[in-house]
Amino acid sequence: MNDSTSDCVFCRIVAGTLPACRVYENPHILAFMDINPVIKGHTLVIPKAHYDPITRTPDEVLVHVITAVRHVATAVWTGLKADGLNVTQANGAVAGQCVPHIHFHVIPRYENSDNPRNWIPGKYASTAEMETFADRIRRALPTGT
Ligand code: 5GP
Ligand code: ZN
Repeated sequence: MNDSTSDCVFCRIVAGTLPACRVYENPHILAFMDINPVIKGHTLVIPKAHYDPITRTPDEVLVHVITAVRHVATAVWTGLKADGLNVTQANGAVAGQCVPHIHFHVIPRYENSDNPRNWIPGKYASTAEMETFADRIRRALPTGT
C-alpha cells in the first residue's frame, strides 16, 4: 500500500471521519456520490486502501476496483435510466486529477443533455508518426505482459 495520510480526503471518507453518500461497499471497495457531479448521479469507485497512481496499484486491487466499477455502472445505467455512461480515471494533476487516491468516475449520460462529452479529437500527421508513438509504448510495456 502507498502512504496513506490523514490528509487524503478519500481515506478520511473510508475511515468515516469525513461524511459521504455511500452507494456500494465491500471489504475492498467503497463507492460514493461525487460531491460536485458532472451530471447528477456521478459516482466514484475507490479501493479502501490508499494507492496512487494506477501504475503503482497492484493488479489484484485493480481487479476488485474494476469489478465494482461494473456493478456500479450497471446500477447507474439502469437505476438512473441513463442512455449511456462514461467510466474515466485520471493520474496526475496535468491529467486533471485533484484527489491522489486512485478512483474511477462513473458518469451517466443522456440523449439531448446540455452536458456533452468534452473531448476534442486530434490527428497524427501520418501513419508513420502514429507508429512511432505506438513503438515507444510497446517498448516500454512491463515485462511479462
Ligand atoms: P479527480 O479530479 O481527482 O479525478 O476527481 C476527484 C473527484 O472527487 C472530483 O470529481 C471531486 O468533485 C470529488 N471530490 C473531491 N472532494 C470530495 C469530497 O470531499 N467528497 C466527495 N464525495 N467527492 C469529492
Ligand atoms: Zn487515500
